[in-house]
Amino acid sequence: MKPELSDPSLLRTTSYVAGRWMAAAGNSLTATNPATGAAVAEVSMVTRSETEAAISAAHEAMSGWRDVPAKARAQILRRWFDLMMAHQEDLAIIMTTEQGKALAESRGEVAYGAAFMEWFGEQAKRIDGDVIPAPSSDKRVLCIKQPVGVVAAITPWNFPNAMIARKAAPALAAGCSIVIKPASETPLSALAMAELAERAGVPAGVLNVVVGASSEIGPALTDSPLVRKLTFTGSTEVGRRLEQACAATLKRTSMELGGNAPFIVFDDADIDAAVQGALISKYRNSGQTCVCTNRIFVQDTIHDVFVDKLVAATAELKMGNGLDEGVQQGPLVNEKAVEDVDRLVRLSTEAGAQVALGGMRSDLGPCYYQPTVLTGITSDMAVFRNEIFGPVAPVMSFADEAEAIALANDTEFGLASYFYTRDIGRVWRVSEALDYGMVGVNEGIISNEMAPFGGVKASGSGREGSKYGIDDYLEIKYILMGGLDR
Ligand code: NAP
Repeated sequence: MKPELSDPSLLRTTSYVAGRWMAAAGNSLTATNPATGAAVAEVSMVTRSETEAAISAAHEAMSGWRDVPAKARAQILRRWFDLMMAHQEDLAIIMTTEQGKALAESRGEVAYGAAFMEWFGEQAKRIDGDVIPAPSSDKRVLCIKQPVGVVAAITPWNFPNAMIARKAAPALAAGCSIVIKPASETPLSALAMAELAERAGVPAGVLNVVVGASSEIGPALTDSPLVRKLTFTGSTEVGRRLEQACAATLKRTSMELGGNAPFIVFDDADIDAAVQGALISKYRNSGQTCVCTNRIFVQDTIHDVFVDKLVAATAELKMGNGLDEGVQQGPLVNEKAVEDVDRLVRLSTEAGAQVALGGMRSDLGPCYYQPTVLTGITSDMAVFRNEIFGPVAPVMSFADEAEAIALANDTEFGLASYFYTRDIGRVWRVSEALDYGMVGVNEGIISNEMAPFGGVKASGSGREGSKYGIDDYLEIKYILMGGLDR
């Protein structure tokens, strides 16, 4: 089943290397629509040697690209932004067809992803250096910033467009070239982005997309001395392995890894606003985002009223094929994802959690799981300890602020966190006490291109977006000029 597109040439099925679409050859992987189980496209897989060819192409292209004036790089990124927005609907259809999320969310993701092209294009013109006080009058001290080198990017399936945009845009803005390995579940969105990059005028070899097995592509990227930086978004488990693999060549790394977000509702909060915030931050992308609320903590005096309202709101969510009008909850990405969610729920109910809503697979198809609310959660349960990555909201009560903070921080992860209160003193106390890279106060959606996205602890290192996001792609060079008084 091919998606119906206004521009069918966006549906590419071979890797893009050195400005050429590779010939279909060798093994292929099947992009599958999780809503129906239907095959969407066969995509050829590259080998290790083809990945090495992509790295060489990126290395060769880099010398020209780094010398392209910042303003010209910015104009190319701006054209890429314009093309992504002009093809927003087709990109969204491709995304929903291979990943499952509701079409409205896919449209939103394309706009969010494109915003990084716009933002970092503008930032390319602000890669400023410094003139620093010198140790003596015959000297001057300067700092310039230069591209770090060839970048390798490995990205997940949950945001098939934006996780690439957040890496490719700052890399290209900084003057780096890039080799991107998208997730095997979502190659089509990545290849469609490469098609638009080519149309935008990104020179051959500056951006390469290789689709294939991580066992072939991963070691080629991590072992190569030509690759000077690896930027990874995905699970903490794989991130740890990649950090180790990069140690031999001492690459720079950025790691955007898993989360276990707390969502705290204090008794002075606007409860209806908190329910809406919980709903969007929990069930967006059917619970498959790294910033999804994973544990909801509600002050004991308002626990029951909050749960009643959350259950009522969750029960209203419309589940179905993401391409269908009005659907808010698509399928999970594959059957394994449903099995994982089901196992976490079963382990928790066996340990005493109660099902307030859902708690089982849906009869819509093998990739669907019912939006679920669990109560009576304790900190030793599986849903408390693990990233759920599905539409399950575990709710737990707490007595006071100190207990809420302790529960929230009781995890190895530290990506997003949220809390609701109207008390201005508490806003500062709790924001500063949460051991997380990001805090949403009275908000359930926090990410945008102007803000620094990233985590601490087992959620990784580095920041994407914002004025800081380009630093991960730049080296600082210090130049001392002497002999100036002669
Ligand atoms: P994943 O299993 O870690 O896979 C992510 C990417 O890594 C895929 O492209 C995958 O390729 C590749 N990969 C897997 N094993 C590899 C290896 N040994 N060497 C090289 N590459 C390898 O994660 P996922 O299931 O796709 O994504 C979900 C995870 O991403 C969650 O934990 C979520 O929290 C996290 N995430 C974090 C952020 C953030 O910004 N912090 C954002 C989004 C998602 P294949 O697909 O070919 O296996």
